[in-house]
Amino acid sequence: MGLFERILVIFQKKDVTVKTPQTPAPIPVAEPAAPPTEAIPAERAPVVEEQRPAVPPDEKEPTTAQPDIKEVKPVSDKITAGHVHMSGCTGCEVALADNYAGLLTLLDKYVDWVYDLTLIDVRHIPEMDVALVEGSVCINDRISVEEIRETRKKAKIVVALGSCATYGNITRFCRGGQQNQPQHEAYLPIGDLIKVDVYLPGCGPSPQLIRNVCVAAYLLLKGNADQQALATAYLKPLMMLPERGTSACFCDLMYEVIDQGLCIGCGACAAACPVRAITHEYGKPQGQRDLCIKCGACYNQCPRSWYSFDVVNQYESIMETIDAAMEP
Ligand code: SF4
Ligand code: SF4
Repeated sequence: MGLFERILVIFQKKDVTVKTPQTPAPIPVAEPAAPPTEAIPAERAPVVEEQRPAVPPDEKEPTTAQPDIKEVKPVSDKITAGHVHMSGCTGCEVALADNYAGLLTLLDKYVDWVYDLTLIDVRHIPEMDVALVEGSVCINDRISVEEIRETRKKAKIVVALGSCATYGNITRFCRGGQQNQPQHEAYLPIGDLIKVDVYLPGCGPSPQLIRNVCVAAYLLLKGNADQQALATAYLKPLMMLPERGTSACFCDLMYEVIDQGLCIGCGACAAACPVRAITHEYGKPQGQRDLCIKCGACYNQCPRSWYSFDVVNQYESIMETIDAAMEP
């Protein structure tokens, strides 16, 4: 008897049954919970697309297209203006944008913005009523010199926007050698190259000043006689600003105001300084000349450096006119 038969006999004697593996009972699966019966708010309810009947290919749907209706602009008699970018940091354009809703009112009612390398894809300077020129001119760069001359030819009013365009500002310190343009070493304010009509010094100029000048330019070109007179009164001092020269720094304030005993200690110069180069000691301004960037803001904000009776005498009427114009 072989081994297998002998083992079989032993199992038969012990009445051992070999159990065949059973198929395991299925694990009961819990029924999915019924969805809550509360009503779903209308705004959260799933959108069920209406089943649209298929359109037979030979039947065309009736067209529901409306005829083209063009938007009617409330004002069509706008002036045209643009931003010409010379050697500036774009801070003056940011100051323009800082008018927020006022900028929209300007663009809606008074100004068509026709040229701006930062914002508009127009490559050549077009004819325009007002050109806001930001930055000084590098006279080592032939293209910059040509562009500023072309701006003068194409624009009725040229505005020096900011201290770089008005006085040279920090670019006056340039001695060349920058990595990308090592040959650029001499920068001049635009008034040294072309005739400028209006100057807005400031690094950058205040957004309100830019807005006011844009409205005043509109009133000067398109307003009635009274509005033109008020706009002229407002713009005249800004037209005459650099009669004393196209450079200004704390030294001018020192020589022309403080050393002359004219200073009243009002603090306007220190508040205007963008680099905090002016402190007040014993009620009088002290300038740290190694910090001064020659923006001229202190000199132009000082009430004792120059004074415009035209603006002061008509200040309320001018501001009422500009504020009324800026109402949305
Ligand atoms: Fe400008 Fe200040 Fe210099 Fe005056 S002292 S020119 S505000 S940087
Ligand atoms: Fe003096 Fe003119 Fe300066 Fe006022 S703004 S503190 S008056 S220098």
